[in-house]
Amino acid sequence: MDHDLRDFIRSRIRRDIADGLVTDGVVTRFPPEPNGYLHIGHAKSICLNFGVAAEHGGATYLRFDDTNPRTESSEFVEAIQQDIKWLGFDWGDRLTFASDYFEQLYGFAEELISRGKAYVCSLPSEEIRATRGTLVKPGEDSPFRDRPKEESLDLFRRMRKGEFGNGKHVLRAKIDMSSPNINMRDPVLYRILHAAHHRTGCSWCIYPMYDFTHCICDALEGITHSLCTLEFEDHRPLYDWVLDNININFHPPQIEFSRLVLDYNVMSKRILTSLIRLGHVDGWDDPRLPTLSGLRRRGIPAQAIRDFCQRIGVTKAAHSVEVELLDFCARRVLERSTRRGMAVLDPVRVLVVNFEGEPEQLNAPWHPKRGELGSRKVLFGRELFIERSDFAFDPPRKFRRLSPGQMVRLRYAYIIRCDEVVCGEDGRVEELRVTYFPNSRSGSDVSGLKPKGVIHFVAETNAIPATFRLVDRLFKARVPGADAFDEQLNPDSLRLARGYVERGLAGLEEPNIQFERTGYFCLDPGTTNGGRVYNRTVPLVDSYRPT
Ligand code: ATP
Ligand code: MG
Repeated sequence: MDHDLRDFIRSRIRRDIADGLVTDGVVTRFPPEPNGYLHIGHAKSICLNFGVAAEHGGATYLRFDDTNPRTESSEFVEAIQQDIKWLGFDWGDRLTFASDYFEQLYGFAEELISRGKAYVCSLPSEEIRATRGTLVKPGEDSPFRDRPKEESLDLFRRMRKGEFGNGKHVLRAKIDMSSPNINMRDPVLYRILHAAHHRTGCSWCIYPMYDFTHCICDALEGITHSLCTLEFEDHRPLYDWVLDNININFHPPQIEFSRLVLDYNVMSKRILTSLIRLGHVDGWDDPRLPTLSGLRRRGIPAQAIRDFCQRIGVTKAAHSVEVELLDFCARRVLERSTRRGMAVLDPVRVLVVNFEGEPEQLNAPWHPKRGELGSRKVLFGRELFIERSDFAFDPPRKFRRLSPGQMVRLRYAYIIRCDEVVCGEDGRVEELRVTYFPNSRSGSDVSGLKPKGVIHFVAETNAIPATFRLVDRLFKARVPGADAFDEQLNPDSLRLARGYVERGLAGLEEPNIQFERTGYFCLDPGTTNGGRVYNRTVPLVDSYRPT
């Protein structure tokens, strides 16, 4: 295990174990709200929660925080589980839902009322907001604050029974309207919401708020370390207040770390949802999105995401991470693991004028250093395709590709010389006529010729049509805003190229592939008989230098 074990959370856990505070093993949880798909920010939290528990032989719950039926659905519940499994983590039988605890939560709410620690407030929600005060101004007590507890209890029970419409009453904690921490100014604990829930159906028409729910679920599950992102730091006093004021014998510490922010990306589910709704992307798994399903479709391996999360580490410092680091991690994994094939993205025809007869089969390994990945046959024949950019009429100095009168080697095949260029009326190159040298076959070259470069190609008889989606960053802005997408989106985030791949790729199961000289690509699951579709995972060139 080469995890970096030195972050402040891991130190804290080790200290708690040494101090005898953790008697039954480390227990953590990952608590997604099923209102969207997971993104790479969530991966940071998943790697941390599952990681620290595993390092101590502990356990991790996957607990869905499903307290807002209006935005949540079982589609998201399914997708989230699939993504966590894909990322390589296993919650075993520890799959829970906040809604599993609705009855217990309700009981704790009644307990708070009975203790005079909560009351039913009948102010409309705008009034509650308006009387909450500001950072510099204290809030005002609700006129219902001193409502007798019997009355609150009666109202709360009738709220549950469905006697009132949405927003008629709420249950509020009775803490301190002049607290410098706004979260402590009699926060709402329960609201009326006549909405069907994806698991409890219409059994409930009141739903607990996150701050009330989360700490109690943590305590009920015996979470030893409740790890969350920094925006919850100001909620910690409320987390502690709830647990201190009910009869529960477990009190997890909440520990905050900074959330992942990635350059040129948005991570908030709200913004992702609107990008999808407005049709700027094709759905949650659009390969331009930082969602786990999008990254998977783009071809980023799960291992690369885990490596990325390990490299960024866990701190309290807020900072944005360069996207190039993710690409770097992807290349490191793909470099070793993927086969290398040939694809021509922007083809120009080549006629080998002195080639006669049946196409020749040439042996080509799938990976230069990993024989165990096997090999395939590459065909060479009279008609070929090469990349348009591998030919230049008027080559710049040091051009190591093909130009009139010059020679180049075709990968795994022969040396060719360009003798004639056929152009269309518009001056565009339509065909190159070349001569090949039969004694220059790769591996048994006795020609004595020394061409300057090697280029890739696909023989026409060996070519299957393919569409290449040249995925680039979705946003032009390094730190995108939440709206005005039209000005911020990169108009070239998805360019299409139509060309050919070698037929040998059709038999591969593994979707990831390196196209020689072109980049890493991944076969899209949406590929149909109409041709193969490949998403570009990352270009080959590495612009990132890790420090
Ligand atoms: P979003 O802002 O994307 O809607 P969220 O916090 O509302 O995120 P949840 O489903 O509640 O989404 O998140 C589940 C867990 O993942 C929480 O513990 C949250 O702190 C953590 N998390 C969410 N975003 C990030 C991030 N960018 N970096 C690290 N952890 C994150
Ligand atoms: Mg949340």
